[in-house]
Amino acid sequence: MGRFSFSQDLGIDLGTANTLVFVKGKGVVVSEPSVVARNIQTGDIEAVGNSARNMIGRTPGNITVIRPMKDGVIADYDTTAVMMRYYIKKAMRNRSFLAKKPDVMICVPTGITMVEERAVIDATKQAGAKDAFPISEPFAAAIGAGLPVWEPTGSMIVDIGGGTTEVAVISLGGVVTSRSVRTAGDNMDEAIIHYIRKHYNLMIGERSAESIKMDVGVAGEVKEDVDMDIRGRDLLTGLPKTITITAKEIAKALEDTVLSIVEAVKNTLEKTPPELAADIMDRGIVLSGGGSLLKNFDQVISDETKMPVFVTEDPLESVAIGTGKSLEYIQHFRSHPGVSARPFVN
Ligand code: ADP
Ligand code: MG
Repeated sequence: MGRFSFSQDLGIDLGTANTLVFVKGKGVVVSEPSVVARNIQTGDIEAVGNSARNMIGRTPGNITVIRPMKDGVIADYDTTAVMMRYYIKKAMRNRSFLAKKPDVMICVPTGITMVEERAVIDATKQAGAKDAFPISEPFAAAIGAGLPVWEPTGSMIVDIGGGTTEVAVISLGGVVTSRSVRTAGDNMDEAIIHYIRKHYNLMIGERSAESIKMDVGVAGEVKEDVDMDIRGRDLLTGLPKTITITAKEIAKALEDTVLSIVEAVKNTLEKTPPELAADIMDRGIVLSGGGSLLKNFDQVISDETKMPVFVTEDPLESVAIGTGKSLEYIQHFRSHPGVSARPFVN
């Protein structure tokens, strides 16, 4: 192929909620939910991504909708591999003239075990990668957010995803302290479902809970209260019913989840060496991940930590962008297998 052979390496953010694929030289080309619909009888894949997600809570008996990732790690290996294969193909759709398999930089949570990490690598290869290089998720998020990760200065990143919140302090190309908690966006949805069931005897679905969170969800104190109509099933009569809830109520429902994420940030700060803590004090804490879009979350974290807090420009894309940008260092990852993200310098 000579000079026409483009490098087709990929960066993949295999998230609990969303999977994104970054193509070198192009940017993020795939961004879809980590959801697969399977036919139980035939075992066939009925849909992947957005179309599968639209089926959640709406499937006939023979179709099941699977979220193959749970708490940041693979819960259903085969389905994860099928889903990744689909996304890799989709990302490389216009490059069919290249038979070469891509190298893939793939993010993994910091709290991951060796076995869990191995599963991610193997699934990525099974999905069509020539080789797979794991990169620590908050490290990728920090790169994606444009933080000076290679410098001798402390950067703190808090990535609030669907299943996990990853908090990390980074300096000189490595993760200095980190914490991974299994409390994130999904727990907010569950808290809303629970609250509405408890206070209104109304059963609502996951999708509804998520849109309530996005529309009227607030962290901390609600300044301007608003109403929202919610439809669900009355648990007493079994019939559909509409109720009106307020942003104040939803904020109350989200309180515990918000608090435990704040605690994770505080705990990490407590373990941070003083020089780095001083850097973070100057530069602020950076939030990424879809969960950081919860209204007022940055303010609450700032109030609780007494630090400046910023949400990165593309919270849903920063990890994917970071895995993509770190493809530049793929030689380093080749010679240093594992999640250590130290650059190739001596
Ligand atoms: P993951 O990396 O685990 O796949 P993402 O970073 O893609 O997760 O974020 C997904 C989470 O972000 C979901 O829980 C979703 O509900 C939440 N989210 C997305 N947009 C918003 C928003 N505007 N407000 C609150 N939460 C949001
Ligand atoms: Mg993520």
